[in-house]
Amino acid sequence: MTDPALSESLDAARARLAAALQAARRPEGEARLLAVSKTKPAAMIREAWGLGLREFGESYVQEALDKQAELDDLSDIVWHFIGPLQTNKSRSVAEHFSWVHSIDRERLARRLDAQRPATLPPLNVCLQVNISNEASKSGVTLDELPALAACVQSLPNLQLRGLMAIPAQYDDPDAQRRPFRQLREALDALREHLPEAPLDTLSMGMSNDMEAAVMEGATLVRLGTAIFGTRHYS
Ligand SMILES: *Cc1c(COP(=O)(O)O)cnc(C)c1O
Repeated sequence: MTDPALSESLDAARARLAAALQAARRPEGEARLLAVSKTKPAAMIREAWGLGLREFGESYVQEALDKQAELDDLSDIVWHFIGPLQTNKSRSVAEHFSWVHSIDRERLARRLDAQRPATLPPLNVCLQVNISNEASKSGVTLDELPALAACVQSLPNLQLRGLMAIPAQYDDPDAQRRPFRQLREALDALREHLPEAPLDTLSMGMSNDMEAAVMEGATLVRLGTAIFGTRHYS
């Protein structure tokens, strides 16, 4: 039995994404939903899968591994690691995820590359940029980005796909678009710098700011609350 509330909120999230793409005059399907399921139980992920979602984002390694074990029968599920990643937990992520959005240092990239099992395709990665330059947020600065991107591009078991950011929140919609625009421009610059990298991903926009992100070219919108409801911790 599917929870009617989940099905309704997912319909609403899909409608919001479609409306945002239309407002931005972008083709339908050019941005997709990443369902951020951190703190939510495996049973809820299974329901969301039943409603057609395939890509799920998790932020805590052990919690994610436990849920992945419970959902082992859903063979087409795609797991994204989106939280801060401690170097000593990199192996589990290299072995159990398809994507990592939070690469912010060379040492982490080199470890993930070394630990990615040869039996799996390369790990898709986005580099996290601290676009609002907030001291409390992780991510590289725009100045540091080219060097980190070149390092990742040189690692055979990582596939550099794009950039991720969690900008500061603004009340004014135009102000909210600015950091997303900067991230898009940074991706455009990287494409020139590394023409051989498959840079097709702008991971930006969350429940509160997805419209601004889609307006500026988001291709992967990370929605937690809007799909699964309020989180009771973290
Ligand atoms: C929790 C989280 C989200 C989802 O946030 P909501 O506001 O619930 O949509 C997106 N991205 C990252 C990196 C997160 O940690």
